[in-house]
Amino acid sequence: MSMKQLLFISISLLSIMLSACSLTETSSEGNDQAEPAPASDKEIDSKEKPAFKSEMESPESDSSEEKESGESSQNQQEPNETSEEGLTIVKNPESIKVVVNKNRKLPEGYTPPDLTIPNVPFYFDEELPKKQMRKEAAGALEKLFKAADQAGQDLVAASGYRSYERQKNLFEGYIEEYGEEKAKTFSARPGTSEHQTGLAMDVTSAKMSFKLDESFRDTEEGEWLAEHAHEYGFIIRYPKGKQDITGYTYEPWHLRYVGKDISSDIHKAEETLEEFFGHYPSES
Ligand SMILES: [Zn+2]
Repeated sequence: MSMKQLLFISISLLSIMLSACSLTETSSEGNDQAEPAPASDKEIDSKEKPAFKSEMESPESDSSEEKESGESSQNQQEPNETSEEGLTIVKNPESIKVVVNKNRKLPEGYTPPDLTIPNVPFYFDEELPKKQMRKEAAGALEKLFKAADQAGQDLVAASGYRSYERQKNLFEGYIEEYGEEKAKTFSARPGTSEHQTGLAMDVTSAKMSFKLDESFRDTEEGEWLAEHAHEYGFIIRYPKGKQDITGYTYEPWHLRYVGKDISSDIHKAEETLEEFFGHYPSES
């Protein structure tokens, strides 16, 4: 073998080796290239995330984001019917557990099924519709009044059931007199008053000149009621300092029937009906 031939063979071998190397390289590049697929996914991710974040941070898309997620989560749990004003229409108006508030409205034209006049003293004699309550609540109110009487407390009933029409007239009258902002703090929009459920009764006394006023709490009757109402299935529906939750200022005179189990739990926990059932006026 000549030197030339030897050189040729060596060069050929070397070039084969080199191309083999480059082949391996290419194939290893190929492997690397197989990975960029997920890598590019990551890239998309990392590109999308900051974009998503900045969307979230911009106030406009933030609110639409909230609305969308709010709606979809609601749809998944239970499709809530909403009124024209965007209020949730309650599905259990006849339940003693019903929660009616500024965001939760009774169905159109709702009238409680078993209204009756409880045998308790009222501050007026006429057989007005506002003497009425649902049968179960009326029975419980009679027991409450009997116990109060035995404890030497002079309770007087003032106002129970109120129809949609009656509430509409009242609310519109209050708006005229006080303006809408103020009226909303103590009076309910028609369809959102607890009095329409037939489960509520406002209670006062002769000492109060039968008025409904915060000072009722400082009277013997008001104190007795706050301590004992729960024993008969009632709660003080709008407690002091809970306006942000209930939507209403303190009403030591407004009783709501919920049954003894719930009234005891709520009394013990010092909660509101909204907290107990997780329905805040701020949520729609
Ligand atoms: Zn009331």
